[in-house]
Amino acid sequence: MNRDTGAADWRPLHAELDRWGEAGRRIRLWLRDDDAIAPSPALDRLAGLGERFELPVLLAVIPMEAEVALAAALRAMPALLPCQHGCRHRNLAAEDEKKSEFGPSRPAADVAADLALGRQRLADLFGAALLPVFVPPWNRIDPARAAVLPGLGYAGLSCFRGYRLGAAGGPPLANTHLDIMDWAGGRIGRAPQDLIAETCRLLAEQRSQAVDDTDFGLLLHHRDHDATAWSFLDAFLAVTQHHPAIAPTDPRRLFEIAVSSPSPTG
Ligand SMILES: [Zn+2]
Repeated sequence: MNRDTGAADWRPLHAELDRWGEAGRRIRLWLRDDDAIAPSPALDRLAGLGERFELPVLLAVIPMEAEVALAAALRAMPALLPCQHGCRHRNLAAEDEKKSEFGPSRPAADVAADLALGRQRLADLFGAALLPVFVPPWNRIDPARAAVLPGLGYAGLSCFRGYRLGAAGGPPLANTHLDIMDWAGGRIGRAPQDLIAETCRLLAEQRSQAVDDTDFGLLLHHRDHDATAWSFLDAFLAVTQHHPAIAPTDPRRLFEIAVSSPSPTG
């Protein structure tokens, strides 16, 4: 497998996008980046990417680890839109559960207290710039806990593909679909050709199973990106940005949050 993005074969993705275009359907492409806590060269790079591609990024910030300096930095980075990523980003799952901070085994009162604590901390840091969107660590939140989010003032929830709300409902949900990192393989960027193939598979599935437009979210982790991850991201956005089937999408639109500052995208 050639790990050099420049040598990746993007033709399968072009072909899939063309099929969407021929069907008159559009893909709302959007970006989410997790685990922000402080300014860094990687955060600068993420902000630059959002500006260059005119694609605002939903930035999931860990409340109890976030530094005051992050708030100051983000004031100069309008492409990065902070929201709440858990509370302490600690694994509090029972031993037989997958990692989670907001799983089914935690008492509801504890969950509510952590949600409020984290939200207050971020409100203190970011003020009106904080989006009322919740991103649970490890993309996991018990559907019964998600159901109470609207009553607590949350306008949106974002997890990973496959996550579904329960019968009790919840806030507007916008999942991400493609994780560009290989965690098990050593926290490295995944091979571009694998990511292209996975994107094509997911989009083809969606194309055959539904008839309308779709969302497609890229899941990023700027603190962990290596050269492979950054160059894939650059190439993916360059390849897709001008395709007529792609609608670069401000995440606020997904949650029907008013875009108060001028946004370059639809
Ligand atoms: Zn995280």
